Amino acid sequence: MVLGRGKATGEISVKRGGRLVVLGGGESGTGAAVLGKKEGYEVFVSDLGPIKGAYKEVLIQTGIDWEEGGHNAARLLKADLCVKSPGIPDTVPLLVQMRKAGIPIISEIEFGSWFTKATLIAITGSNGKTTTAMLTYHLLKAGGLDVGLGGNIGDSFALKVAREPREYYVLEVSSFQLDGIRSFHPHIAVITNITPDHLDRYQHKMEHYIRAKLRIYENQTPEDHFIYDLDDPVLSQWINPGEIRPQIWPFSLEQSPSKGACKDGNEIQIRTDNTPLKMNTDSLALEGLHNVKNTMAAATVACLLGIRKESIRQSVANFQGVPHRLEKVLKIQHVQYINDSKATNVNATFYALDSMTSPVVWIVGGVDKGNDYRSLLPLVREKVRAIVCLGLDNTKILETFGNVVDLVVETYAMSEAVKVAYKIAERGDAVLLSPACASFDLFKNYEDRGDQFKNAVKSL
Ligand code: ADP
Repeated sequence: MVLGRGKATGEISVKRGGRLVVLGGGESGTGAAVLGKKEGYEVFVSDLGPIKGAYKEVLIQTGIDWEEGGHNAARLLKADLCVKSPGIPDTVPLLVQMRKAGIPIISEIEFGSWFTKATLIAITGSNGKTTTAMLTYHLLKAGGLDVGLGGNIGDSFALKVAREPREYYVLEVSSFQLDGIRSFHPHIAVITNITPDHLDRYQHKMEHYIRAKLRIYENQTPEDHFIYDLDDPVLSQWINPGEIRPQIWPFSLEQSPSKGACKDGNEIQIRTDNTPLKMNTDSLALEGLHNVKNTMAAATVACLLGIRKESIRQSVANFQGVPHRLEKVLKIQHVQYINDSKATNVNATFYALDSMTSPVVWIVGGVDKGNDYRSLLPLVREKVRAIVCLGLDNTKILETFGNVVDLVVETYAMSEAVKVAYKIAERGDAVLLSPACASFDLFKNYEDRGDQFKNAVKSL
C-alpha cells in the first residue's frame, strides 16, 4: 500500500471513507480528527488518559466518536490508518500491535499535508523553533502573503488545513512529528540547531534524534530549499551539501558562506540573490546572539519567497517577541526581571546567559532531562551573582555550581524564589528565570511556570 498524496509520490491510497483511528485527543489529535472527518473518513479518537473539555467539545460538535481513559484495542486494530499524537512513544504495546497488524501509523503533519496544496515552510531544531516560526510568519504576513501559522504553535496544522485554508503555512515541527512522516514535503525546510534533547524517546542515542530531525528534507527536490546553522557542530558534521537534493542556504555568525546568511560586525547579510539584504543587528527587536541566528533563518525564508527587502527590515524591527522566551517582565528598583521559562534545556539557558549584559541572579532548576551543566560554567563564573534553585531535586546544580557562585539558595515555590531573588539583586542586575529544566515537578507546564513568575514579579 502506498500512502499519502505527497507531492513526491503523487498518489493517495488510504481511501476516504476508510477507518481512521486517532491516538491521543490533544491539539494535534483533535485537529487530525476534524480534518479526517471533513475528508470523509470514519474517525475514532482514543486516549489512554482524560481528554480535555475543550477538545471533547470540538469532537462532539463535529460528530466524531471518541473514548478516553483506555483503549478499545479490538476496535483500534480494525483501523485502515492511524494518526498518532507526537506525545505517544512508538514503543507502547498498542502501537506495536497495530504495526504488526499492518496498520500504517503516521503523524498529524503528514496527514495534514495530504489535503493542502499550500506551500509549506517547516521549521525544526532543538531550540528556537517557536521564535523562528513566529518571526517567519510575521515577515511573510507583513510582506503580503496569504499565510497561516501552525504545528506546535497554537492550532495544529491539520486543523488549519480543515478550517483555514491558506496559500502558505509556516509550521513548527518537532522530531516526534517528523518520526511519523512519509511524503511530507516542505518547499522550505529550516533546522535551527541540534543539541541533545528528548533522548529518552530515542533509546538515549543522539544519532537517532539527529536522524529524526534530518528527515525534514528527505522528500525535498532541487526546486526546494534547506536552511541550517552552519556553526552548529552536529549539523555541519551531518550535512554534506553535495549529497542532499534541496538548494542549501546556511547561516553563520562565524563564517561567511558564499550563499546564505552571515554577520560582519554589526551587519547581517542575507545572500539569496544578486543584491544582498543588509540589516544592522541593533535594529532587531529580538535580543541575543541566538536571535541573530533565528532572524537570519527567518529572513532567508522571506528573501527566498520574494518578500521586499524594505518590508523584511521593518518587520524584524517591529516584531513583538514571544512570551516566555527572554521576555522582559518589569524593571523594579533598577533590576530587570526576565522570563525565559521556555528554556527547558541547557543549550537554551546557555544563550540566555550569553545575552545578559549585567550581573545576573539566576533562577534555575526543575525536572532535569539528563543535563550536563558544565558548558555553562564559564558564563556562570563571568555573569552570575547568585543562584536561586527552584526544583524538587537540586543536587546536580548544587554540585556543579556550589563552588563557583558565592550564594546558592534552594527554594520550592515560585513566589519564594522571586522574593529571594528580589532580596539578593542589586541595582543594575537582572533576575533571570532560565531553568534549563522541564517544569513538571512544581508546575503544570512551562507556560504556568512563566506566568507564575510574572505574577510573582508583579506583586513584589
Ligand atoms: P523551541 O520552540 O525550539 O523550544 P523557542 O523559540 O521556544 O524554541 O525557544 C526556547 C528557548 O531557547 C528559549 O529559552 C530561547 O531563549 C532559547 N533559544 C531561542 N532560539 C535559540 C537558538 N537559536 N539557539 C539556542 N537557544 C535558543
